[in-house]
Amino acid sequence: MSKFQLSESAQQVMDSLFSKQQQAIDNVLGFPMARDLDFTGVALYASRFMNNIGDPFVAGSCQLDIKDLERSVLDFFAKSFNAPANNYWGYVTSGSTEGNLYGLYMARGNYPEGVVYYSEAAHYSIPKNIHLLGMTGCNVGSQASGELDYDAFRLAVATNAGKPAIVVANIGTTMTEAMDHVATIRTILQDLAVEDVYIHSDAALAGCYAGFVQGASYDFADGVDSISVSGHKFLGVTMPCGAVIIKDCRRKVVQENVPYIDSPDSTISGSRSGHTVLGMWYALEQVGTGRMRERYVECLELAKYTETQLRTIGWEAWRNPHAITTVLKAPPKELCYRWQLATEGQSHIICMPGVLKGTIDEFIADLRQSIPPKSNSISKSVKKLLPDVA
Ligand SMILES: *Cc1c(COP(=O)(O)O)cnc(C)c1O
Repeated sequence: MSKFQLSESAQQVMDSLFSKQQQAIDNVLGFPMARDLDFTGVALYASRFMNNIGDPFVAGSCQLDIKDLERSVLDFFAKSFNAPANNYWGYVTSGSTEGNLYGLYMARGNYPEGVVYYSEAAHYSIPKNIHLLGMTGCNVGSQASGELDYDAFRLAVATNAGKPAIVVANIGTTMTEAMDHVATIRTILQDLAVEDVYIHSDAALAGCYAGFVQGASYDFADGVDSISVSGHKFLGVTMPCGAVIIKDCRRKVVQENVPYIDSPDSTISGSRSGHTVLGMWYALEQVGTGRMRERYVECLELAKYTETQLRTIGWEAWRNPHAITTVLKAPPKELCYRWQLATEGQSHIICMPGVLKGTIDEFIADLRQSIPPKSNSISKSVKKLLPDVA
């Protein structure tokens, strides 16, 4: 028991926060947060210090870490990404923005003169990270599906002849969940005789299930050098987090050893959350590979259902075949706020684990109400045009 106590008003804030957060999560259809897992088991640890400072594979002098659990999380992702056995490295990040920053940082370490190619459908963290690192970026067009426009890519690389190519492959774009095809990217680079290549997969959302998608080409077996994935999206960890995995031979360690912590400074952050490591480990222990596939298949079914229901009420909708994201014509702004729909020209519904069919049905009913009945709207406009007739 601490001698410090909350005031009554602060306690009220705490109480109302709880129900407000519950209400907010119930109607999220546009942002990718899985909510089928239970994290009450990790709640106990909120009052424990856990800091995985330094390298996850090197014990340091500070013993508040849970690096053994971190290595177990990394091993799970390394295996599912077909990383070279015992020849990979990685760490639990604060999210995919940091994972992408790390991947690009290592790419720059290998090829300081490299040009970073990324599609216009890339996440906003990519141009930001390129800017932070002072690298040269080259924004390439994308197809209507959201996948990289390979002809535009070929042209862009040819224009920068002689320069190393650093490519960010989008494994599940933010708006349409399109996946770039790494094997195709590699073939184009080979055709153009580019030898110095670094490919980073931004697999924030789809990294957890891309391995179940037939024909996907995104991992170490397909020739990527690093991959980042988020922990608070498909895994549903309640705090933002993620993991980045890299081929050992591609690492450029910043500083071999820091005497102060007695561990190499190999991560971007110094202190790193142990709570998110515990969250990821806890989620993976519940899910494993088998349940991960099951969850993906369930999401896919719901996304197909959503697409069908939208079409049934006459609302434009489409979906990339592997995607748990259904893209739709943007609903009225009021609905976008009520259902927390991310809208960028078009809108989307992401059928994450834990999204209920009943919630989709409620949304569809809501959307249907916003469509003016055809006969009605015609008569109204006729009235407007011909006020005397009315
Ligand atoms: C969400 C997302 C990111 C950023 O991830 P954070 O964990 O929010 O930093 C990066 N890339 C893609 C494709 C994403 O969907």
